Amino acid sequence: MTDVPAIFASQVFNDTVMKTKLPDDIYKALKRTISLGKHLNLDVANVVAAAMKDWAVEKGATHFTHWFQPMNGVTAEKHDSFISPEPNGTVIMEFSGKELVRGEPDASSFPSGGLRATFEARGYTAWDPTSYAFVKDGTLYIPTAFCSYTGEALDKKTPLLRSMQALDVQVKRILKLFGKDVVHVDTTVGAEQEYFLIDKSVYARRPDLVYCGRTLFGAAPPKGQELEDHYFGSIKPRVAAFMKELDEQLWRFGILAKTKHNEAAPAQHELAPVFASINIAADHNQLTMDLMKTVADKHGLVCLLHEKPFAGINGSGKHNNWSISADGVNLLDPGDTPADNAQFLVFLAAVIQAVDEYQDLLRVSAASAGNDHRLGGSEAPPAIISMFLGEELTEILSCLINGRPYSGKEKVQMEIGATVLPHFPKDNTDRNRTSPFAFTGNKFEFRMPGSAFSVSEPNIVLNTIVAEELSRFADVLEKSTDFHADLKRVITSAIRKHRRIIFNGDGYSKDWEDEAARRGLLNLPTTPQALPALTDAKNIRLFKKHGVLSETELRSRYEIMLENYCKVIRIEAKTMLEMVRKYALPAGIRWQKFLAESLSSLRALSVPVPDDERNMLSAVNSLIGEIMARLAILESASDCSRNFDSAQEEGGFACGTILAAMEELRLPVDKLERMVPPDLWQLPSYGDILYSVN
Ligand code: ADP
Ligand code: MG
Repeated sequence: MTDVPAIFASQVFNDTVMKTKLPDDIYKALKRTISLGKHLNLDVANVVAAAMKDWAVEKGATHFTHWFQPMNGVTAEKHDSFISPEPNGTVIMEFSGKELVRGEPDASSFPSGGLRATFEARGYTAWDPTSYAFVKDGTLYIPTAFCSYTGEALDKKTPLLRSMQALDVQVKRILKLFGKDVVHVDTTVGAEQEYFLIDKSVYARRPDLVYCGRTLFGAAPPKGQELEDHYFGSIKPRVAAFMKELDEQLWRFGILAKTKHNEAAPAQHELAPVFASINIAADHNQLTMDLMKTVADKHGLVCLLHEKPFAGINGSGKHNNWSISADGVNLLDPGDTPADNAQFLVFLAAVIQAVDEYQDLLRVSAASAGNDHRLGGSEAPPAIISMFLGEELTEILSCLINGRPYSGKEKVQMEIGATVLPHFPKDNTDRNRTSPFAFTGNKFEFRMPGSAFSVSEPNIVLNTIVAEELSRFADVLEKSTDFHADLKRVITSAIRKHRRIIFNGDGYSKDWEDEAARRGLLNLPTTPQALPALTDAKNIRLFKKHGVLSETELRSRYEIMLENYCKVIRIEAKTMLEMVRKYALPAGIRWQKFLAESLSSLRALSVPVPDDERNMLSAVNSLIGEIMARLAILESASDCSRNFDSAQEEGGFACGTILAAMEELRLPVDKLERMVPPDLWQLPSYGDILYSVN
């Protein structure tokens, strides 16, 4: 049996290790840097670097890398060895403070959205001491931020750290009004990660999985998820072995892997860690996704992190459980006293106002070509942002703003800061899975982000929009001469104005779409429709005010995301064309030939030809004709020489024309697959893939 406490964080240069490896004064200086964001001078950095290197070498490391998260959605690393030549021809292992603190990767090949011309290609990476370094596969990994030479963010970590800073400032202003001086405000996040596991042999035979991470066609198997027998079902031995090794690896890296279970779709699973400070949670989630892939490979499996690998069954999300804590106290916990409740209500009102006013940004934070297939797919929240608070809390809020007594178990006159909130049950059971943004008793669960996402994106937005509303509340309340009365006014007017965003019903229903339209809520079903919000004047003002992203940075992000969207669609179109030409059509033609030959030999022998067999041939004939016609349409749509006036126009074309042509082409191909025998079809079917792990 694994001794979990013994292996836990054994690969991490964490606080415990620092305490034992660093001289006391250096340790204290580093801690000040970590908790207060104080500048670290080079003398201190030199000592930390030397200690880190000695520790890493003991763990078998020969190299170090500045590990960062560029805008392409994956992590980047370049490994340098510790060796330094000596005059006598030998080498010693060296690592300086300068090398720890700053790196200068040639960054010309990372997306910059026009921020950095190729001729001045250098970006730099800067050590983030708030996330611990670790040793993996013989290399010391140093979490870093990645910026252009002029200081613009080229990554996801930089704005995330800035957004935490923004929230810290505003939360402290509010808490001060309640007579509390806190040292450290944190955003806490627990990211539930969904994924599919399939056998490597079927994966290798599906070019669409290899190039796109999702299937571009495939007839539905006789059995999908309709029996609801996979969710929480017993875990197959091969999957269990994978999960066991994954847990052990994650624990070694100090990741609090907690829950694992089968998900709704066949071959789908989930892993959830215990929540952590968002900066750590984001790094940990990147590492988790990485390890899922490498551990799967060792077990002869492939881990699919795409949001919708298979049509017709559930896709994968990444539920972002989010709260704010001040010196370790959860601010979204209602508490038990009138004072605690009043404070809770301010934060709740700020979140309600933020989610309503910035629906567009939350939608953007979950936008990608992959996730577009998942949102609104009757298994994931729709592309409309709304909030679930539960019937009780909604009723309590409604009594508060209308000055009505709340009639729960007993009638109580609700008075902010004077009465205790009636008990409302925690939503532990996920009662409403159809809501994109659900209050679950002491945190919010944002369910829109896709499984392949960095959790940085949604949390940059959440932190910033909530910071904004808190700052507006604080502006009013700091000037107040009657705190109690003004507090009540601020809370009730926010709820009154923004309650349209609260919806406790079925988010998957068509009725909700109509109702949301009546309420004036945004419905942005596709990424190209959602992205322009990034450069909307109100949003540029917001990010600038809180020092999270400049206008230039926002414009670059918009360009990068749109460009990525168009590239993904183009790759998918090319893959589909190739697969139809090389697999589907040849298979159909072979089957056509077989049927034709069979019919003519029957005729030659003067055996009566069954009508059904002749009908089969004509069905195959007409499907082949349809496929050829639709193939030609897709071919011309994805012709690369087409010119566009703007990136936005190209995005609209990718979505409205190329993707639409792909969907049209898919229909006859799936029909043909149902008719052609598997030895001719050659591609593994949905059934082969989804039930490949036994
Ligand atoms: P579920 O019903 O969605 O499985 P859980 O209570 O198991 O709910 O929590 C799911 C995730 O939420 C876990 O990662 C958990 O650590 C995280 N979580 C719990 N409390 C908080 C909090 N205060 N802030 C952020 N995440 C939290
Ligand atoms: Mg959950």
